[in-house]
Amino acid sequence: MTPTPPDHRVLIGMEVHLQLRTASKMFCGCPVRFGAPPNTLVCPVCLGLPGSLPVPNRDAIVLALSLATAFGCDLAERTKFDRKHYFYPDLTKGYQISQYDLPLAKGGAIEIVTEGGEAKRIRLRRLHIEEDVGKSLHDDASGLSRLDFNRAGTPLVEIVSEPEIASPEEARAYLNALRAVVQYLDVSDGNMQEGNLRCEPNVNLHIDRGGRTIKTPIIEVKNLNSVRNVERAMQQEIERHLELWRTLGDRVADLPRGTRGFDDVRDTTFELREKEEAHDYRYFPEPDIPPITFGATWRAEAGARVPELPDARRRRFSTAYGLTAYDADLLCRERATADRFEAVVAAGAPPKPAANWLLAGGADIARLSPARLAEFVNLVEQGRVARQAAARDLLPRMAESDSPAAELIAELGLAQVEDASLLREAARRAIAAEPQAARDVRDGKQKALGALMGHVMRQTGGKASPQAVRSVLLDLLKEP
Ligand code: ZN
Ligand code: MN
Repeated sequence: MTPTPPDHRVLIGMEVHLQLRTASKMFCGCPVRFGAPPNTLVCPVCLGLPGSLPVPNRDAIVLALSLATAFGCDLAERTKFDRKHYFYPDLTKGYQISQYDLPLAKGGAIEIVTEGGEAKRIRLRRLHIEEDVGKSLHDDASGLSRLDFNRAGTPLVEIVSEPEIASPEEARAYLNALRAVVQYLDVSDGNMQEGNLRCEPNVNLHIDRGGRTIKTPIIEVKNLNSVRNVERAMQQEIERHLELWRTLGDRVADLPRGTRGFDDVRDTTFELREKEEAHDYRYFPEPDIPPITFGATWRAEAGARVPELPDARRRRFSTAYGLTAYDADLLCRERATADRFEAVVAAGAPPKPAANWLLAGGADIARLSPARLAEFVNLVEQGRVARQAAARDLLPRMAESDSPAAELIAELGLAQVEDASLLREAARRAIAAEPQAARDVRDGKQKALGALMGHVMRQTGGKASPQAVRSVLLDLLKEP
């Protein structure tokens, strides 16, 4: 029998590498583009040929500064670049230009919502700029590897959090919150499958042993290509650390730190090479790039790029439009959806129904301009057309015609049956046709009303408002 897990805390820190969406690379004029033929977007600088001189990309620095501003980081007064040395075939220079002791920004936080629905701030340790490396392409059939340097020199921002993420679910929330900000700022595609957002979580446990804390070794997990896999890998690691503790007891604290990969088919992590310590990289200042001092101009330019952020917008949507936190959250995940919602409301639609229609989605809704969508929502709200008929028939027609919606309703024969005497007549026929259902409703079985309503709806071809039918039926059934 497995013993119950000991009292423990989960500590997850996140290291994210994000490719910035710039026209050219970080230190040369080569274009940044995905999917070009191998080694066609290269020059002496990004190939690391001797004698070439790197020149920092101003746009990339502004994008990185705007991201740091959005996360509330302390921007450096003065920053510099450093060489981080290591040998790898996809790094022809033998070093990566990164930032060591004077990163672009420190501090700041990313706010997440926990499983319990509470807001929690995950503090950031640092945010710095560096360059991406090339790509090794391994061909299993021939046993040969090829190198593509198109990616070498692409601007990256590295964002390192404190180990304050306390569960796999929070790790997922952290990445989603980070991606939402990235998307609002439009600084990157932030797509994990395409590799323009890469993350390496590190995890360990603090196990409580009667007042003493036993720490399991910190394990970094690499090669995760989706938020879901980050969550799964963290679940697996927590289980594995608990199992290690069951086997080794308190000696688990003596194990070395390590690096592992994740096999998403077998849902398990596996050992990779040992993690290098910082001093192994022999950092030293990049002699070809002078330090940069950020004055008011830089800060203002970066600040001007920061729009209202998802958290603030969510809160405003709840209070200003009376939306539920859930709906506000769904609307604000993508900046385009939130912008569209506000445009539809500005065009005169009541907020709550506008949110419902937008969140219901669909190709027809996407094709309508904000003004047309507002027109549509208002007609449905006024009861001029039944909800179902509106979704099924009116929306596609509005998407292909510019005629006023009221005209289209008439053309399609969708006008609601509003004539009270007509409805009453249909309701009488329904009661006569379904005597058992009528008796049940009179006996207090509200469920039976459905059969009667269905009968009236069929008689009116679905063009009566359900509320009207319901009240007419209840009125008639009250009569002796
Ligand atoms: Zn280049
Ligand atoms: Mn890095």
